[in-house]
Amino acid sequence: MTLAAATEHLSPRPANLLVISNDRQPGSFHAPGEAYAGLQIVPEESAMAMNRIQFQPGLSMPEFLRRFGTEAQCAAALEHARWSAGFRCPRCDRSDHCVLRGGTHKVFQCHACRHQTSLIAGTIFQGTKLPLTVWFLAIYLVSQAKTGLSALALKRQLGVSYPTAWLIQHKLMQVMADREERYVLTGQVHVDDAYLGGERSGGKVGRGSENKVPFVAAVSLTEDGHPAHTKLSLVPGFTRTAIAQWANAHLAPGSTVFSDGLGCFSAVTAAGCTHQVTVVGGRKPNDLPEFKWINTVLGNLKTSLSGSYHAFAFRKYGARYLAAFTYRFNRRFDLQTLPTRLLAAAAGCAPRPMRSTRQAEVHC
Ligand SMILES: [Zn+2]
Repeated sequence: MTLAAATEHLSPRPANLLVISNDRQPGSFHAPGEAYAGLQIVPEESAMAMNRIQFQPGLSMPEFLRRFGTEAQCAAALEHARWSAGFRCPRCDRSDHCVLRGGTHKVFQCHACRHQTSLIAGTIFQGTKLPLTVWFLAIYLVSQAKTGLSALALKRQLGVSYPTAWLIQHKLMQVMADREERYVLTGQVHVDDAYLGGERSGGKVGRGSENKVPFVAAVSLTEDGHPAHTKLSLVPGFTRTAIAQWANAHLAPGSTVFSDGLGCFSAVTAAGCTHQVTVVGGRKPNDLPEFKWINTVLGNLKTSLSGSYHAFAFRKYGARYLAAFTYRFNRRFDLQTLPTRLLAAAAGCAPRPMRSTRQAEVHC
């Protein structure tokens, strides 16, 4: 069973779009015919934690505009984000330089090797014709939007064309994905199988449905049992090989992995982790504290995707949307510095030409 049936009435979109389903082995998690509502429930304790997030001071729009409202302010901020200790030549790493002006952006010329570096060269802004103020506003809007921001909303708010907004959105999501890729989960890690997409009408139902894109949902916990970090990774399927590869890339050796009875998860031992199976029996999601945080994360993800985005190609771009979600989730206690951290990540990120931005992800 998938969530498609349970969510159809919530959304006017076709059932095969923007649905996260989480198939249990038949009968093991919820009774046949019972709508699986676990993903929509936020447990009380996590609701308290969420309040801590909701009421923290973010960076207000007036404050943002005061700091980044002009092209000169944005250029200075970008320069600082790239070279906080002063310019270093990317070719020879020397610091002696002069600044050439006249073009749109500052150009730094190295005294030692004469190499010229534009302020935006080597960042995701490379080659842009847009003012930096537009990019900075996009970074602000994307980082402050509680449940993500669609390209259409970005188009309206930035006053740019839809293709431009789409490209800005995807470049920023790729920055977040690159950042998230660096982390590995450690300690107690709870994992579960989940899917983007539901079944097409008339298609196969459940695991194996052709329009579903599988991903591993994982949450590491702190010593007092609260979520530390989450990862949502597309996988080719729930096979032992895929899970062993996933574990090698995303788990620290020595971690303890908790899952339900889905067989493939025992392959985490290939990455030096211990595996503990929770027998779910006939119990419901609420009765299973082991899955509380996974369910909370997936519930938030579902709200974020169905509330903010129209249909997107799950296989091609799913990894980016998932990374944009986890980027925000993993920094949920720090909304105020989120825009500047995303800016720093964008400044340090390799440029993304349009072609590679549109390319499919390598995961599947
Ligand atoms: Zn040089």
